[in-house]
Amino acid sequence: MGGFEHILIIGGGVGGALAHDLALRGYRVTLVEKGELLSGTTGRHHGLLHSGARYVLHDPEAARECWQENQILRRIAPQAIEPNGGLFVALDERDQSFYGRFVDRCRSIGIPAQPLSGAQAIRMEPALNPTLQGAVLVPDAGMDAWRLPMHFFATARANGAEIRNFTEVTALRMTGRTVAGVDVLDHRTQGIASIGADLVVNAAGPWSGRVAAMAGVRIPLQLGPGVMVSVRGRLTQRVINRLQPAGEGDILVPQRGLSILGTTAWLADDPDAVAVPPDHVQRLFELGRTLVPEVGRLKPLAVWSACRPLLRSQAAADPYRISRSFDCFDHAPRDGVEGLITLIGGKATTLRAMAEKAADLVDRKTGRSIACRTRETMLLPYRCFWRRA
Ligand SMILES: Cc1cc2nc3c(=O)[nH]c(=O)nc-3n(C[C@H](O)[C@H](O)[C@H](O)COP(=O)(O)OP(=O)(O)OC[C@H]3O[C@@H](n4cnc5c(N)ncnc54)[C@H](O)[C@@H]3O)c2cc1C
Repeated sequence: MGGFEHILIIGGGVGGALAHDLALRGYRVTLVEKGELLSGTTGRHHGLLHSGARYVLHDPEAARECWQENQILRRIAPQAIEPNGGLFVALDERDQSFYGRFVDRCRSIGIPAQPLSGAQAIRMEPALNPTLQGAVLVPDAGMDAWRLPMHFFATARANGAEIRNFTEVTALRMTGRTVAGVDVLDHRTQGIASIGADLVVNAAGPWSGRVAAMAGVRIPLQLGPGVMVSVRGRLTQRVINRLQPAGEGDILVPQRGLSILGTTAWLADDPDAVAVPPDHVQRLFELGRTLVPEVGRLKPLAVWSACRPLLRSQAAADPYRISRSFDCFDHAPRDGVEGLITLIGGKATTLRAMAEKAADLVDRKTGRSIACRTRETMLLPYRCFWRRA
């Protein structure tokens, strides 16, 4: 098969980092985003660059992906990362029962995991609950949720990608069973236009089910929203997680002079109707203060929700247990629709790996074989996005 030259990507979030990989491989790339770039889930997450440790107990594939990408992103986008480390803290007997397995699994994946006594952990982070029984130091880090993907967009644009915000795809242009481009609405001018493309990549995150439906296909997408709360003050220097399989209210991420408490998770159907259930804020404070007692004396500074575009699995109905891994579908063999790929799932931490997987699929469809170069290509500073070419 040949002739695929112009690749159109729908979605300016984590999935849109594909523009960088494809531009490096020499494709002509257009990315369209219906709102501001990163206005979906990506601009609103905790900003935790996962080491993978959060997933070692129940989602080893996601743990491996996160650890690999954590190391790569530190190299290619150091300006977006605060390499402050993270502590997993065991507060009670139940947490302690996971301790040995947690350290073993981290080490089997290659994640450095340094066991600490409760007293050592308190010396490192005096605000932690003084009753804690033990902790493990891992290479979690803080990331700037917005700047990290902007580094990818800046580099993609410098390499020729066209990135158009406020441009919503309203329909896929079909020629028989082939997607031949998109119809778009420009929200700034109210103008409508068509953009032809040899291949369309659906990277619309929580809205990717709607985009797939425009071609009459269904994808295994499960929406899993969550609530986060920020409080004034940097309560800890490191990222804090509770030492247990990932669950409710067990993360605290310092971001500059603030601390972010996260998160809850539930299942939803409509990405445009994700409100903040009032009791979630109270639960985050209750659980947050078991990690860091001072949380109990603070008031919320900001409260918000974001919607995870999860890869639905038959095995897990619990939103905490649905894998945080990702996949990429070619709708030609799967659904008989040519010219359309969907990329879903993953984490902000794994944006580069998601792009590599999708770009490899684009290569297979074009009959090309171009080596991925994003592992070693330093990204431009995010500010370059607004610089004249
Ligand atoms: C509560 C919570 C906390 C999280 N914390 C972390 C964390 O700390 N660390 C981490 O690594 N990950 C975290 N994640 C996961 C991460 O945020 C998501 O996996 C990731 O942001 C999803 O990116 P996406 O590109 O798939 O979706 P999005 O960011 O939503 O991007 C999709 C884009 O497509 C656009 N779009 C939709 N329809 C159209 C259309 N018709 N035309 C044009 N554009 C369209 C949308 O406007 C949107 O901008 C968290 C997620 C949640 C929910």
